Amino acid sequence: MSVKEKSASLARFKTPFYFYDLDVLDQTLMSILKESKRYGYKLHFAVKSNANKKILERISSSGMGAECVSGNEILLSLESGFQAEDIVFAGVGKTDDEIIRGIENNIFCFNIESIQEMEVINKLSSERNRTSSMALRINPDIDSFTHEYITTGIQESKFGIGIHELSIAIQSLKSMKNLKLIGLHFHIGSQIRRMDVFKNLCLKINDIQRWLEGQGIITDHINVGGGLGINYEDPDDLPEFDQYFSVFNKNLELRNGQGLHMEPGRCITGQAGSLITRVLYIKKGIKVDFAIVDAGLTDLIRPALYHARHKIENITSDEPSEKYDVVGPVCESSDSFGKHIDLPRSRRGDILAIRSAGAYGEVMSSNYNLRDKAPAIFSSEI
Ligand code: PLP
Repeated sequence: MSVKEKSASLARFKTPFYFYDLDVLDQTLMSILKESKRYGYKLHFAVKSNANKKILERISSSGMGAECVSGNEILLSLESGFQAEDIVFAGVGKTDDEIIRGIENNIFCFNIESIQEMEVINKLSSERNRTSSMALRINPDIDSFTHEYITTGIQESKFGIGIHELSIAIQSLKSMKNLKLIGLHFHIGSQIRRMDVFKNLCLKINDIQRWLEGQGIITDHINVGGGLGINYEDPDDLPEFDQYFSVFNKNLELRNGQGLHMEPGRCITGQAGSLITRVLYIKKGIKVDFAIVDAGLTDLIRPALYHARHKIENITSDEPSEKYDVVGPVCESSDSFGKHIDLPRSRRGDILAIRSAGAYGEVMSSNYNLRDKAPAIFSSEI
């Protein structure tokens, strides 16, 4: 059933709120797991994309692991049913407390992003008589042709160890007795829809692996991060996982027994969530009218932060279409969900669905302007 068909039920709730369609989530999970199992790839859900506990519980019960970027994400993942041995911990600035949390919980792997971080994790592990498993996050210098704020694998990015430092990192590792190198990690960006970008990543990894082999290093696994994009223009279009996995199957040269790990986020939860908001006022503009809604950038910051465009639907009006600037109530001019948007003629009280908001939506919300955070409502509750 589409969001529009659920409009009568949705209209009963106080807006704004996140609406999660669990059927869409389940369908996406089934599809990604079916396709990944064909190749034996191991998935760790990127908790940063959606940390709603109910969503995490559903994802953990599918058997997926978790990818965390903070100590609190590790805790919540454990509370939500993920197994410690399936948790990877990434992040360019892990604090000592967060590292200790990872060590004490016996997580699967630290994805380490600098030589100094290696030294700190080695020391903190040694003080606890532990050996921590690690993957070296390498910056492969690949342009992912996505928004500059979500490009993470080019030379100027703060993420990962640059290829120019790889040799020193490998040398330094030899004296670190409380670290065990088990993987190589890469993550080049988010909302990537061009498969040739992932192919380029595979070819670069092949070169790096060959070079490392020359140094006597073969790791248990390769982790290619996340990044698969979704179709924001058509929220009912679910990601094509078969194409994505087959790029890695065709182009990445895995060694005997070497596993491939991935950290998908957006492509799992993105299409399952909508931000539901109510039109507060229609105000005359010079060129088009403003539809002022009760959701703002505090609820969904992607348009303000990344110039992202989400499809907006008026789910309570079937009148002829008009153009609107759809804006929120926050005291910032960037608080806009879209300019010159075609919507059925809209009136105070109409309900709009801002689609494809299941990833980097609720989790990035804030209390700026002392606004309440939008709650989550699930399809099972309506
Ligand atoms: N892995 C790492 C290290 C990340 O930084 C991110 C997000 O930026 C992800 C995985 C998830 O990416 P996405 O949601 O694009 O799949």
